[in-house]
Amino acid sequence: MIEVAKRFVDEMIAHAREDDPDECCGALLGENDTVVALRRVTNTEHSPYRYNMDPQEFFKVYQEAEEQGWGLWGFYHSHTHTQAYPSQTDRNLAAWSESYYLIVSLEDKEKPVVRAFSIVDDEVTEEDLVVTGGNEGGTSATEPSQRAVD
Ligand SMILES: [Zn+2]
Repeated sequence: MIEVAKRFVDEMIAHAREDDPDECCGALLGENDTVVALRRVTNTEHSPYRYNMDPQEFFKVYQEAEEQGWGLWGFYHSHTHTQAYPSQTDRNLAAWSESYYLIVSLEDKEKPVVRAFSIVDDEVTEEDLVVTGGNEGGTSATEPSQRAVD
């Protein structure tokens, strides 16, 4: 089970909506396994089907993390027309085996779905994502009906 504060989940969804129909992307920085900062990164592809984090912006985020003693807790990007599950391209791009990969799906614009995965050697493992700090306390962001059978 991994936990992410509601404000970061809200921020990821807001970013996804702003860049819709293109995919958005960004990084989540952590301190002792707790997400403490979200940094948007420009998707240089400006595409509804793929993303590529701007290398210079990403380097700045990496430097900031180093300076603050933070880790690259995870990365997020959006799927504007498909479910929140890593595509083959996403798996190929998942170079950080220690980081989580979060995907925001806007497939149903009214009901964005956020799911979290570990991707190691092309193998995808879904993590139980719990959103903390909301009005009702912890609630799961995952929707069982949308789980993929891969
Ligand atoms: Zn993707």
